[in-house]
Amino acid sequence: MKVFETLESNVRLYSRSFPAIFSRARGSIMLTEDGRNVIDFLSGAGALNYGHNNHRIKAAITEYLASDALVHGLDMATPAKLEFMETFNSVILRERNLQYRFQFTGPTGANAIEAALKLSRRVTGRQNIISFTRGYHGMSLGAIAASGNRFYRTASSIFLSGATFMPYDGYLGSAVDTADYLKKVLMDESSGIDHPAAILVETVQGEGGINVASKEWLQSIQAIAKNVGALLIVDDIQMGCGRTGEFFSFEFADLSPDIVVLSKSLSGYGLPLSMLLIKEGFDAWQPGEHTGTFRGNNLALICATAAINCYWRCRTFSQGVHHMGELMRHRLEAIASRHGNDFLVRGRGMALGFDCQTKEIAEATTRNAFEHGLVVERCGPVDQVVKFLPALTIDVETLNRGLEIFEKSLAETLKELGRRDLAPTVR
Ligand SMILES: *Cc1c(COP(=O)(O)O)cnc(C)c1O
Repeated sequence: MKVFETLESNVRLYSRSFPAIFSRARGSIMLTEDGRNVIDFLSGAGALNYGHNNHRIKAAITEYLASDALVHGLDMATPAKLEFMETFNSVILRERNLQYRFQFTGPTGANAIEAALKLSRRVTGRQNIISFTRGYHGMSLGAIAASGNRFYRTASSIFLSGATFMPYDGYLGSAVDTADYLKKVLMDESSGIDHPAAILVETVQGEGGINVASKEWLQSIQAIAKNVGALLIVDDIQMGCGRTGEFFSFEFADLSPDIVVLSKSLSGYGLPLSMLLIKEGFDAWQPGEHTGTFRGNNLALICATAAINCYWRCRTFSQGVHHMGELMRHRLEAIASRHGNDFLVRGRGMALGFDCQTKEIAEATTRNAFEHGLVVERCGPVDQVVKFLPALTIDVETLNRGLEIFEKSLAETLKELGRRDLAPTVR
């Protein structure tokens, strides 16, 4: 690890949390250079929903590479892009009665968020963006201005502007409907809150601590956006592509967002690919007004098409995610109740959070977990929530093994910290 310490910038993060050299991976298992087998519950922060090196997707790209088809072509028309748009349109959009245009942006999620914010400002002629407490939208300045985390905001070292924060669902406790507050300040001519170009929302806040918005709240937010003439942007970068059970995380709430932002697992293989889905009436760009060298990379589009063909042509996959999500939730809730009353389990589908309430417990637990062979990360305002994002393709046995490691690591932590009496483990 010496080279990483001396040559790589101090900014590196995950190599500190998981100190090993990872040489190979398949599905939910990663191999380290010193011969350890590690279960992956992080899945590239949600970029590997179909697991590492998914062999069903790999065949498509190896064949593509062997054929000398275009890998890079700016945003020129290629068979790879044509096939992706046709497949996505028929299998994902038309099946859900959705109609969108595709804008391929630069490769990162933040690139796509910037494009969404810019477009909604251009469409409405307004500047303000409503975003929510604990929201996370990426590291570029426009995206960070709309993200809550003080650590990241401070690190940007510049005055961040253009966004107004409103309380997310549940932020003020279950008795307060924060959508009412948003509605009030936007209707009030003297609230001090400028009418927004867009309301930018995650249906489940991934980095913010696996905070789950209800169907009713999301529907209110959509109605408010419509009333006030703002675009509704759903940031589905982490929660989209099946993570919550459906392809889009907003399907359960019957939303019809004006712009949907997809990235992370869109390519299905961990290759960078980001795009906006834009309602036709809001596609106000002039040709070339928002550009970039790496948009709609053909290799990533090939994987994305293969992933849709493999997993989304019938309901089985989605049903499996719901089923596995329930298994995980029950296991985690049982673990929470066995080890005291302070732990909370939240989430939807296969995005689950185990709120330890304190940073110390979460930190020591994930550290212990890695020593026992499990990669699992933390999220939330003070990183107090252990975040479970296993591959959607994981098998029950590996899932259970990972959860057992988690419980063992939590028990060890509580013993180390000496904060609680351990209830006997009944299984
Ligand atoms: C990861 C993430 C982003 C940023 O994506 P990058 O590719 O890291 O720029 C934006 N929004 C959400 C919800 C994310 O999870």
